Amino acid sequence: MNTIQDKIFKFAHRVEARGNSLADEMRRTLEGVLGEIIAQTAKLQATYLMTEKWDKEVYKRKYAYLKAQRVNVEALLEGTFEAMRPPVEDAAFDVMEGAAALAESISTGKIAIGGGASYVTPTMLEDWITTQTIEGLLINEWLQKMSTATADKIVIAGRESLVLGHSAQQAANHLRENGISGTVPKLYALARTFLLSASNYASEAAFESLGGVHGWEYLATLDGRTCPICGAYDGKYFPHGKPRPSLPQHVNCRCVYIPHHSPPKFHPDKPEHRLYDGDTEGYLKWDIEQTTRNGIPPRPAVKHDESTVHHRDGSTSTKYKVGSVEHTTENYSQWLKRQLREDPAFVRSILGKTRFELFKAGKISLEKMVVDGRLKKISEL
Ligand SMILES: [Zn+2]
Repeated sequence: MNTIQDKIFKFAHRVEARGNSLADEMRRTLEGVLGEIIAQTAKLQATYLMTEKWDKEVYKRKYAYLKAQRVNVEALLEGTFEAMRPPVEDAAFDVMEGAAALAESISTGKIAIGGGASYVTPTMLEDWITTQTIEGLLINEWLQKMSTATADKIVIAGRESLVLGHSAQQAANHLRENGISGTVPKLYALARTFLLSASNYASEAAFESLGGVHGWEYLATLDGRTCPICGAYDGKYFPHGKPRPSLPQHVNCRCVYIPHHSPPKFHPDKPEHRLYDGDTEGYLKWDIEQTTRNGIPPRPAVKHDESTVHHRDGSTSTKYKVGSVEHTTENYSQWLKRQLREDPAFVRSILGKTRFELFKAGKISLEKMVVDGRLKKISEL
């Protein structure tokens, strides 16, 4: 098996891995500044505070110290997140070259000469940074947002230590546990999402200049971590030049577009595989035989076993282990419908109680749960 779909999924995994290593780098940068913050906090305390006990300090000193501490933390973090931009840009550029090379090899059937670099220009990187949003925010706005949120947490943790009368060592530990532990998982999610965004951007630009694409098939991942919003789009077809959702749709979205160079054959009698045509109101039907011939072979559907990992610093994270894998030509919605019979608890864990009951009773389809790219509220159902 070496279909377009396989190549695109394989590349998406490489992008994910690159995102994780980028986040490793960002995490080290963040941990580095924490040492600096701890050292400077001690200096500020020596400058502003007179006694060892916080409740014995006069109001004026407390106020001056807290103000100086916040200014200091904010400045250090701003510099830190600023320093994360070049590695993000480097990784994005790498990923863009890879995505363009893949687009070239898919379009021409040959390995790209020059690794697709001819399709990636510094302008493209700049265009991506300045125009592409994830959940409405540009890359730099995300970094700014994380910087502010982390500064708040660090300032709060520092104040707690004062009130609790922590020793220097206890205060340092408290800061590590509460100051940045919440930011670290976000770094990983964002790094992966940023790079997937860069990859999609370059891929689409390369396909655009290579020409010959008839349309795009939206593919989500068949597993329990895919949200119903993305699931509802799975398998839909968007003719080239017609509006379609830009990917990634949200932080941690793993959806991809598969380019089709010839129109998929529609079959009026088979409702199974449905493709969305942007300018007709209904769904067009797609023949399964043709689907396979057009390069959409079965793909893996995975169920994960979840477990909670308790880390030494007191934080927790969720670990996913592959529980079962099967290969299917179903789209997400069909796959989920089958799970109603085979594994209803799984469906319930994805949809939640109310949506699950409605879905099970056949009262609502996955598509109907989503409006304007968001999940309808229970009251809207
Ligand atoms: Zn998605």
